[in-house]
Formats: sequence, C-alpha cells, structure tokens
Amino acid sequence: MHIAAIVASTASFAQSPPSWKGKFEQLGSETLPSPNSYRTGSGAPGAMYWQQRADYDIEVDINDETHLLIGKETITYYNNAPEHLNFLWLQLDQNLFSENNMTEKTQGTIVRDSVPVKFFAAVTNTRSTNYNGGYTIKSIKDAAGTSLAFIINYTMMRVDLPYSLKTGEKFTFIVEWSYIEYDRNEYDGGRGGYEYFPEDGNYVYTFAQWFPRMCVFDDYEGWQNKQFLGMGEFALTFGNYNVKITVPADHIVGATGQLQNAKDVLTSEQLVRFEKAKQTYDHPVLIVTQEEAIKKEKVRSGKKSTWEFKAENVRDFAFAHSRKFIWDAQAVKVGDKTPLAQSLYPKEGNPLWGKESTKAVKNTLEVYSARTIDYPYPVAYSVHTADQGMEYPMICFNGGRPNKDGTYSQQTLTGMIHVIVHEVGHNFFPMIVNSDERQSTWMDEGLNSFLDKETLQERYPELNYTRGTPKSIVPFMKGDKLQMRPVIASADNQWKNHGPNGYIKPAAALTLLRETVMGKELFDNAFKVYAQRWAFKHPKPADFFRTMEDASAVDLDWFWRGWFYTTDHVDLELADVKWFTLKQENVNLEKRKIKIKSGDLNVASKNKKDFTSGPQEFSIQNTADKFYGEFKNRIDDNAIRQKIIDKNIYELKFRNIGGLVTPIIIEWTYIDGSKEIEKIPAEIWRTNEFEVSKVFVKEKEVASILLDPNAELADVEPANNGFPKRVVESKFDQFKKNN
Ligand SMILES: [Zn+2]
Repeated sequence: MHIAAIVASTASFAQSPPSWKGKFEQLGSETLPSPNSYRTGSGAPGAMYWQQRADYDIEVDINDETHLLIGKETITYYNNAPEHLNFLWLQLDQNLFSENNMTEKTQGTIVRDSVPVKFFAAVTNTRSTNYNGGYTIKSIKDAAGTSLAFIINYTMMRVDLPYSLKTGEKFTFIVEWSYIEYDRNEYDGGRGGYEYFPEDGNYVYTFAQWFPRMCVFDDYEGWQNKQFLGMGEFALTFGNYNVKITVPADHIVGATGQLQNAKDVLTSEQLVRFEKAKQTYDHPVLIVTQEEAIKKEKVRSGKKSTWEFKAENVRDFAFAHSRKFIWDAQAVKVGDKTPLAQSLYPKEGNPLWGKESTKAVKNTLEVYSARTIDYPYPVAYSVHTADQGMEYPMICFNGGRPNKDGTYSQQTLTGMIHVIVHEVGHNFFPMIVNSDERQSTWMDEGLNSFLDKETLQERYPELNYTRGTPKSIVPFMKGDKLQMRPVIASADNQWKNHGPNGYIKPAAALTLLRETVMGKELFDNAFKVYAQRWAFKHPKPADFFRTMEDASAVDLDWFWRGWFYTTDHVDLELADVKWFTLKQENVNLEKRKIKIKSGDLNVASKNKKDFTSGPQEFSIQNTADKFYGEFKNRIDDNAIRQKIIDKNIYELKFRNIGGLVTPIIIEWTYIDGSKEIEKIPAEIWRTNEFEVSKVFVKEKEVASILLDPNAELADVEPANNGFPKRVVESKFDQFKKNN
C-alpha cells in the first residue's frame, strides 16, 4: 500500500515518547475468562449453560410488639450442575448484626475531635439499645425430619447433605429460624429494618434478607460464598416462592409476588377498589385512603391475619407491612402484559407520594421495558420509608419525605422520583438480568443508573436530571489517583469510591458509549441483546463486554480497558493549530514544469496562539513516477491541485493528556459565524496513544476551534480545548459573565 505523504503524520516528541500501553490491544485471556461451552466468545450463554434453582415455601410470623420474626422455610434445591454436591451454602445476612460480626471487626476507624454520637455508635457498635441481632437457627432437617449437620461461618452457613446430590437431582430441607428486626435509624447497612413513628407509636416494617437464602453455585466460581460485609450486595438463585406472612390484622402487606388471598385479608370495600385498580390505566386508584389509614393508627387489632403471596422465577423475596399504609395502584400496559403498579406509604409521605409514586413506577416499567425486555412480573410496588432506597423483585423501599406541613423542595421531589425510578429499575438489573452484586456493583448499579437517568430525562425533562452524564463524573475523575480504584474492582474493596465507581462512572461511560462512541441505534440494539440473552440468567462482566461488541461490530476493548479496568481520565488537548493555503505561484510554476522542493508542510511554524498572522503558504509538486510503481496510468495532479487552490488547510495536533483514549469532537466556527461539528472515532489514537496530528481541508476560513463543545467526553480540563488560545473560557467564567 502506498502512503500519501501529505496526510501520514508521525509524532515528533521533544524527548522520547511515553512507552506503549497497548490501549487498543484486545482484552486477552489475562483479562477476560476464556470462552467455553457455558459462556461463549460472543458473550451469550453457551450450549452447555446451566444454572441452579431453589424453590421456597415459607411461613413467617411477625410480632408488632417485640419485632420478633419467626420463620419456617422448605427449600427445594435443584442441582443442574455437571458435578455432584455434598454440601450446600446458604446466606445468613442478618448475622451482619450479630455480636460476632466481621464487618465491625474489620472496619478501619479513627477518632476526630468532634463526631456525631450516631456516627460513633455505628462504627464502634456502642448503641443506645441492647439490640441482639443475628439469626437463631432452631433446626435444619431433611424432608423425613432427620437433622442435618451445619456449620456457620459469620454470614455463611454450610449444610451437609446426607448423600451426594447428583446432576439433575433435587433435595428438599426445612430450616426453622428467628431473629429480632432492627431499628433502621440506628442499625443501617442491613437494607431492611423498621421505622418507628413516635407521634402515633406505629411502625413501618420493611423486611429484607430476612430468611436463610441459597448462595449461587455456578460454572464461573463454584459457590459464591464471599461474606456479606455490608457493601457488596447479593448473588442469588432463581426459583419460585410461596410465602405466607402473618401480621396484625389491621396491617397492609406488600411483597414480592401476587397476593393470593385478597378476599381473606381485605375488606369488601378494599376488594372492590383493588379490582378496579387492575382495570384502571390512566390514574392510581386508592385502595386504602389517607383518612382510613389515620383512623387505623389509633387502635390496635388483637387479631392476626395471614397474607399469601406467590412469585415465579425470582431471585429473592421481600415484604413490607404497617397499619399506617395508604395504598394506591393502577395497571400499566407493557407489551402484552398488564402489571399492577402499586404504592404503599404512611401519611408522612403525602402529598408527594399520592401524586408521584405510582406514576414513577409506571414510567419506569415503560421506559426500561422498551430498552430491555418487557417487564415480566405481575406487580411492582414502591414502598415509602425514611431515608431508604433498596430494591427487591417486584418491591422496593424508597425515601423522599415532604416537610411536616406538606411542602417540599425541588430537591426532595427530584430525589424522591429518582429513588423510585432507580429502585423499580433494579427489577431489570439485577433481579431479572441476575448479575453478581457482591463482586460487580457496576453490573447492576451502573447499568441501572444509566437507565434511570435516561428515564428521568425522557419522562421528567423539567427536572433537568444530569447524574450519570459524562459531565457529572468529571469532579470524581479529576480526583487523587492514589485513592481511586477501577470500576471492575469488587464491591467491598471499593469503600471510598463505591458511589462513583458503582453508579456514576459506569453510567457516564455508557452514556458516552451510546451518544458519542457507538451512536444511539447501535448501542440501544446491543444493550437490548444483552438484556435478552441474560434475562433470568447469571451474566458476568465479560458477557456484557462481549455482547456489546458482538451485536454492534464496534471494537470496544479499548473502551472497557480505559473506563472499567484503569483509573485514567479524559483530558484532550488541542496542542497546536497551523493554517495553510496553497501558494498561487506554485500553481503557475507547475505549468512551466519547474521542479520545486517537497516537504513544505512539515516545516515547523512557530506555535502561534491565534490566526492573526494569516495562513502559511505551502507548495505541492507533481507526483513523481516512483509513486506509481507498476501502474501505467497517471492521476491528474492538476485536477487535485485545482480543488485545493482556494481552500483553507488546517493541521491540528491533539494530545491525550489524561491517558484515557477518547473520540475527538471538533467544533469549527467560521469567520461568517457558522459552525460545524466533526466527530472522529477514538481509533485515531491507535498508532499513537499520546499525540496525533491531522489535516483538514475547509472551504471557509476558520475563526476558532473548540474540542468537546458540549462537554460529552468527560474531559476534565476544558481550558486546553480551544484555539485561538485566548477565547477559551471555562463554563464557570461564562456563567459568571452571564449572571
Ligand atoms: Zn441501586
């Protein structure tokens, strides 16, 4: 292949160039696992893909006075693995609060001259109450009633099987347990707990991680029995649930799954409203009104009632109950399904919750379904409790409370809508696309933060929501690299960077990927392929990375490497601009066939700060015979020459200061005031990761050049993006000037 002398540029470094980092090399087997028959090289489940299954039949009773939960579960575990199992691992998450817990033992702490008491209590386990947390395991027996041996290791419990459980076999066993639910105001980190309302002496209970749950056993790492330390969330097995929840008879219960015995637990009036809600698509229907809920706050039923829920193909089960609950619901159309969007909230949530909660559930189901798969479950609850944001299949617990007089700030409104959209959105990641949260926070929080931002921007444009845009991650990316870990680092090792690395950085990266690197059509399509491939399965990071490439033909190894495996940041510099025009004399000289010297373009002009000294003239010569090699015909040099006679030729030198390779977006502003945006793929850096020059031929004369004009690249330093140098102003300066 011939190399045209005018456009091929090699970088000139004053000293020796920085050493090659292989930024465009493929993520080889040292980074990604080798494809196999379980997980293919295209990022799809393989022909031999398998996963385990665990079905649960649970009966649980909650005491409203003592907060004691007593439970009995029958677990049927299906071994689909191509190996025999001699023991099973279960998760005992409530042991996070047992006296002997690893979290508190291993948490680094310091003393400051002044700290809030609550903070001190949380880090030293010096609490105002003598709460005795953690599980009491009463018994573990097989179906015949024979006790099974078990060992508890902090938050993990190994149950030994009486015989080897072979491939294709199932094993049924029964666990009886109890624990005392905790006050979430004092014990945070557990995700559930109760909220106490001193004015009327009532509670809102949100039960989470409340039963011994099966660990995941998979092809990738065997048992996922990494301890629950508080930050890294859950890895869970799919299965069917049948759960009977016994509470005081005046409580309203919401849970993962569909209510099976409405006529036993609802009044006839509530039942009529409940049925009406299922047929109503344009507004929420109140099943329990605020007046009715307030009336109930003042009395205590001495009776109990049992609410029965069924859920199919879910990874977990949570529930909430209170006599304070107002309840509204409406149906939502999603494909050929009509899930019931529901909200449960104490009066303290109003007027905000009545207006916004169920609407937010509906918006989430619609937007997420369009981007992934149709919401497959029959119900979706949003439950209000203070300062919370936690997700489970079909139900989530959300904060966002107005002031006592019912007023609320724009911030409270935005925060409340965001938390609901986010937590309902978790139904898709990780409840349906069941990634391992304990290892890879970004696979659920990052993908979900990306889609919650998309939902808020589409359905609530008036809120101007920007969290998760490339611009929103700039302050973090500018930070101290010694304090930073890459997104791919596991959840509990991310303590300091958990928020940015789990949520905003991956969301910003996906936004950049969609809007700048891949384009919306290719991205949306590939993202949907990922959701479809891995719905109701267990994807790993490589499955996502590979699928996004597989479905789009965009090589993204450089992108995953930079954004997920390193702490590099984007800082693009427009290092130099040169302006050239063709020497008119040269055109005439050509006709007289006078030989001129080549290489004018490479004569270094001194770095200029603006265009005031005018263009530098350059000459071009006729193509010499040697450039044609064996070809007998010749191209018309004059025709080409005529095409560039009056053009403005610009040579731009770009530098990658931050280390994270990036597409380049150039905004040309011409002297007539018109503008042009030009986008160059990141591959421009593939032969030189640090510096590259490129020549542009423009009809019009350029007045100024600006890189990343709309701040979509997460470039941490806009001050080096412009030419002439003096016109560059930070957005903050512009803001000051305009206000
Ligand atoms: Zn989340």
